[in-house]
Order: sequence, then C-alpha cells, then structure tokens
Amino acid sequence: MKKKKSLSLPMQILIALIAGVIVGFICYKAGVADLTANYLKPFGDIFVNLLKFIVVPVVLLSMIEGILSMGDLRQVGSIGWKTMAYFTCTTAVACVIGLVLGSLFNNAGLFPVLAPPTEAFEVKEFSGFMEVLVGMFPSNLWKAFFDANMLQVIVIALFFGGAMLAAGEKSKACREVVSSLYAVVDQLMGFIIRLSPIGVFTYMAWVVATQGAEILGSLALVLLCAYIGYFVHAIIIYSSTVRVFAGISPVTFFKGVAAAMMFGFTSASSAATLPVSKECAEKLGADKEVSAFVLPLGATINMDGTAIYQCVTAIFLATCVGMNLTLSQMVTIVITATLASIGTAGTPGSGLIMLTMVLSTLNIPVDYIGLIFAVDRLFDMGRTCMNITGDISCSLCVTRWQQKSKQRHNA
Ligand code: ASP
Repeated sequence: MKKKKSLSLPMQILIALIAGVIVGFICYKAGVADLTANYLKPFGDIFVNLLKFIVVPVVLLSMIEGILSMGDLRQVGSIGWKTMAYFTCTTAVACVIGLVLGSLFNNAGLFPVLAPPTEAFEVKEFSGFMEVLVGMFPSNLWKAFFDANMLQVIVIALFFGGAMLAAGEKSKACREVVSSLYAVVDQLMGFIIRLSPIGVFTYMAWVVATQGAEILGSLALVLLCAYIGYFVHAIIIYSSTVRVFAGISPVTFFKGVAAAMMFGFTSASSAATLPVSKECAEKLGADKEVSAFVLPLGATINMDGTAIYQCVTAIFLATCVGMNLTLSQMVTIVITATLASIGTAGTPGSGLIMLTMVLSTLNIPVDYIGLIFAVDRLFDMGRTCMNITGDISCSLCVTRWQQKSKQRHNA
C-alpha cells in the first residue's frame, strides 16, 4: 500500500500563515474583526497557554540536560562565555543599525510628528544593575517556577546542573530522573508543536482583521523603518556570522529557520517559540548540548529585534516631542536599549514595557508610548522573529567554536 505523504511542519505553518492573512483580510474588509477576536483568537490563546505551561519545565530540564551532557564545568564556562560574547556583540550592532536607520528616516523627514496621546503610562524605571543582579537569584525555588521568572529558572538550572556534575557518581539517580523527565517533556512538547498551525492561523487572522486599519495609518513609515532594520540585521549579521563562523550558507540557514521565524512572527513570543527553535537549530546541525544551553538563555536575554525596535521608536518619539538627539544621547540609547533588551521577557509586548526605560533615560515623556501602543503587535511580530533567529544563529556558531576548540585540544 502506498504511504500517504504528509506535509512537513514548516509547510503547514506557511499555509496556516497565508490562510490566516486571507481570512483576516476578508474579516477586516467585511467589518467583522470582532468575529476573529471572539472565535478565532481564543484557539490561539489555548495554544499559547499550552506553550507557556510547558516552557518552565523545558527551560529547566533542557538546560540541566545540556550541562550534564557537557561532562565538566569547564566546558559549561567555555560555552557560556562564547554565548554571552555573541549575544552582546550582535545586540550592540542591532542598536547601531536601529539608530542609523532611525536617524536617516528622521533626517529625511519621513517620521510623522504626532500630537501627544492622552493616556498615561507607567514608567519602568531602570532599577540599577545591582538590583537586577540580585533579582536574578531566587530566594524561593517554587516562586521562581510559579512566576515563570526565566532568569531565575536559568540560574536554578545552572546551579543544579553544576552541582550534579560536581557530585559525580553520587548524583546518578538525580541524572536519571532529569533525563527521564526530559524525555517525557520532550514528547509533550512534540504534541504541542504539532498544533502550531492552528495557533499560527488563528493569531494571524486576528492580527490582520483587527490591525488592518492601522497598518495603513500614520505609523506605516515608522513600522517600515523598523522592518528594514530587522531585515538588514538578518541579512548582514546573521548571514555573515553563520557563513563565517558556522560554515553554513545563508540560504540553508534561512530555509532551516523558516518554521521558527514564522512561528515567532505569529506568536510574538520567543519563549513560546523555544520548542520550534530547538528543532530547527538541531536540524541545522547545532549540538544538542549547545542548543539546550544557548536557546533557553537566548529566548530570555538575547533580543536583537527588540533592540532595533527600541532605537527606532526612541528616535521617532523624540521627534514627536520636538527633541533633536545629540551623539551622547545616541550612545545612551545604545547602552540602555542593550540593557533593556536583555531585561525584556520573551513574551508578547514586553519590549514595549522596557521601552519606557529607554525613554525615561532620555527624558522623553513616557506617555508618548501611547502613540505606538495600538500597533505594537505589528512591531512585536517582526522583532520576535529576529530575536529567535539570533538565538539559533548563536547556537550554530557556538557549536562550531566548540568543535574547533575540541579539535585543537585533541591535536
Ligand atoms: N515579544 C518579544 C519576544 O518574545 C519581546 C518583545 O516584546 O520585544 O522575543
């Protein structure tokens, strides 16, 4: 009997995405956007809830598994610093791209000057480096899980993974428990991922149906500027890093990450995209131990798309306030946007909240955020897509760097 060939997941996601755009557009034109919000989006919400429920065990167990498979603590340190170096450099470059493009658009008079909004927003003050540092260390194990505080979950995974390695033979039972639990969570994740076309379709239909009007509105050029930034960053930085450091052709890379990019685009959540990113990274050749370490960390702290967005919108909002940014203010933006993107959670809309921090450092009234609030989802889709692409490219580069240092070691 001939076996029926089923469509691959990336193909299913692509079809769902296109179908979502079409249905959303029809609903928008027919003036029944509410239908998508009331009857389609809830299915997307169910799907995202499932992903959120699985993300803490996935991050915790996959990081511990990753650390255990490295075999010794020196290896953890070696992967750790390479990952952090990649994250910091690419985020700083993303900020510069965002600033250059924002300034070009601004100087060409392409940014609209909009009247101040009426709504008031709460400022997210930068609490200071030391406070952020202290906040990373949990005082209560369960509370960290309960609040899904990803930085704390990562610290817990690092400590437990490290301690199990240090305990040697005596931790055998613990290792088996972790590996058995991870196998179960991995299966569960597989089931949930198979539902992703439903999530993609329903969310896309809802976004297009409800945001259609704004796409054509006054913010189209600001959106365009951010999307050019995302595009330039992907083409220049990710293409060249995977080519130079990981030896992968950009075409293969973008084909391989397409499913995760589409998923990130529609879900607007790096954390929720994590299972798909993992699959894509491993198919492209990332070591399991590296991707298990780099991807959860990246989904929590590496946000290049968010950094570009924060720089572009900071320049746009400064224009609306009537400010002309000086060079030193631009440098301030690079520093605060890099820190703000690290502090941004991998969930929908969190980049907007962290933008308040950048604005308050520049003395731009935070209420001006109301100007972009309505269309933030559209910025968010693109920036999340970039955020996860950056994580996957990092996992590939670090894999290759590790292989090279092992070869050097063995030589
Ligand atoms: N939604 C983004 C992400 O999950 C974060 C942001 O809002 O910038 O990566």
